[in-house]
Amino acid sequence: MASSDAIIIGAGLSGMYALHRLREHGFRAQAFEAGGDVGGTWYWNRYPGARFDSESWTYGFSFSEELLREWNWSEHFSGQPENLRYCNLVADKFDLRRDITFNHRIAAARWDDAAGEWEVESTSGVKARARFLITALGPLSAPVMPDIPGIGEFAGQAYHTGHWPHHPVSFEGRRVGVIGTGATGVQAITEIAGLLGSSAEATPVRLIRLAASGPLIVARRPCGARPEIVGVAGLARGDRHAQDQEIVAIDSTHADEDLEAALRARLRAHLGCPSLFRGRDRAPFGLAQAGPQACG
Ligand SMILES: Cc1cc2nc3c(=O)[nH]c(=O)nc-3n(C[C@H](O)[C@H](O)[C@H](O)COP(=O)(O)OP(=O)(O)OC[C@H]3O[C@@H](n4cnc5c(N)ncnc54)[C@H](O)[C@@H]3O)c2cc1C
Repeated sequence: MASSDAIIIGAGLSGMYALHRLREHGFRAQAFEAGGDVGGTWYWNRYPGARFDSESWTYGFSFSEELLREWNWSEHFSGQPENLRYCNLVADKFDLRRDITFNHRIAAARWDDAAGEWEVESTSGVKARARFLITALGPLSAPVMPDIPGIGEFAGQAYHTGHWPHHPVSFEGRRVGVIGTGATGVQAITEIAGLLGSSAEATPVRLIRLAASGPLIVARRPCGARPEIVGVAGLARGDRHAQDQEIVAIDSTHADEDLEAALRARLRAHLGCPSLFRGRDRAPFGLAQAGPQACG
């Protein structure tokens, strides 16, 4: 049985950093990761449209000046492929993988009082011991399947954004239903709408909001060549006014200052929305990335 000073569960950003820090302080540490590689959130969430909703620069590790200098985010709200590349760079640069056991989900952890050690065991029966146990499981790493009667009999393809396949999924000519209109739903809907192909051009994307407390709304309309950002309503949490499903649209490329000011005032008055983003780089949740086909 492997023994070390510290066991870390999870090799997302938190687990990678914990491993690096422990090594720096002279500890022998080993990590276990359920996935096949590093990245956590960005390893699992490969759905179309997956990207940061906070500014990319806030995400970079600051413990290494060399790393900071070496990496430049190409977008303000960078997408999953780039985010995962960043995780891989960190793993490569600090040679983290040699102490990470991938494809091992830890199923049990037991404190051995006599030995003063933790013993962990993976689902495949691999055991390890250490004095310190650090759980870096992630706040959002356990996909929740919707509890809908009959869901098991659905005959079409079904995917969970938090467990997206590594191979590309084709949406060409398909009818797609997305359950959920939170940040992930909005990202996925705007991107998938652009992947439906020309046969779906005239079909509006209809959004069904299940929870009144999750008032993010996007709609797709026929549009010309100009890209538009459409329908972000009720960014403020728990805002009751947003429940009227008001849809606000702004042409991201051509909106002048007057229009933007008017929209901003309207958003504030009706939705309590803290900010209105504009342009390709500033759009929240990647809305501006959707391009002409996916516009609302
Ligand atoms: C779609 C999405 C977008 C996000 N966007 C942002 C953003 O823009 N800005 C921001 O600050 N945050 C964002 N977050 C939050 C994000 O989760 C954190 O920023 C960060 O990535 C969390 O890192 P972590 O290492 O703590 O957890 P995770 O990245 O979730 O990593 C946890 C790892 O632990 C592994 N694990 C869990 N249980 C076990 C087990 N029993 N055994 C072995 N391995 C296990 C998982 O497989 C996973 O790889 C986003 C989250 C999601 C889902």
